[in-house]
Amino acid sequence: MITIKTFVFNPFQVNTYILYDETKKCIIIDPACMDKFEENELSEFIEKHNLQPLKIYNTHTHLDHVAGNRFVAEKYLINLEIHKNSHYLLHSAITDAQRFGLDLIESVEPSAFISDGDIIKFGSSELEVLYTPGHADGSVCFYSKNDEFVISGDVLFNESIGRSDLPTGNHKLLVDSIKSKLLVLPEKTVVYPGHGPVTTIGYEKENNPFLT
Ligand SMILES: [Zn+2]
Ligand SMILES: [Zn+2]
Repeated sequence: MITIKTFVFNPFQVNTYILYDETKKCIIIDPACMDKFEENELSEFIEKHNLQPLKIYNTHTHLDHVAGNRFVAEKYLINLEIHKNSHYLLHSAITDAQRFGLDLIESVEPSAFISDGDIIKFGSSELEVLYTPGHADGSVCFYSKNDEFVISGDVLFNESIGRSDLPTGNHKLLVDSIKSKLLVLPEKTVVYPGHGPVTTIGYEKENNPFLT
C-alpha cells in the first residue's frame, strides 16, 4: 500500500509528493523545494522514515515543479525521468524563473523518458503513466489503480483545471485529456493535484465548472 506525503513548496505553492510503501522505497514527484529550509524539510522526512529514494519524476517541467530536481538528484544519487515532450521546456525553466526574480538551480538532465501507459515500479508498488497534454507540453499524471489515487500535476485541480494560456497551453487539448484520461477513472479515485487540496474524480465530475 502506497503512503503519500505532501509538502507545499516555493512561492508558487507547489505540492511535492513523496510516495512510499512498506518496503521503504520511495519516489519523489515534482521536488519543488527552492531554498535550504524546504530542502531540509524534504530530506528530514526521508531520513526520519528511513526511506530509500529511487527516482524523481516531474508531472511537467514548468519552473515551479522542477526547482528541487538537482538537489534531490545529487543528495540521493538518483535519476530524473520525464515525458520526452516536456524535455525542451526543462531548459527554459531558468530564464522563466528569472522573469519572476527567482534564482533557480538548473535541473539535472533526465536519464530516461516516460510514455503513456508505462508502468513505474518502486518497492512492491506500481503506477501507470497517463499522458495528459494541454497545460504544458509533455504533461503526465500518475495513476495507482490498487490504491485508488492519481497524481494530476497542473492538469486537474479541486474545482478547477490547469491554465492553458501559458506558451504551450491548449484549452481544448487540456479538456480532452481530462475527459479521456482522468474522468474515466473510478469515481472514488483520489486526485492529488500540483497545487491546492485533494479531491476525487467523482466530485470533479459533479462540481468542476470547467468540465460541465
Ligand atoms: Zn504548470
Ligand atoms: Zn504548477
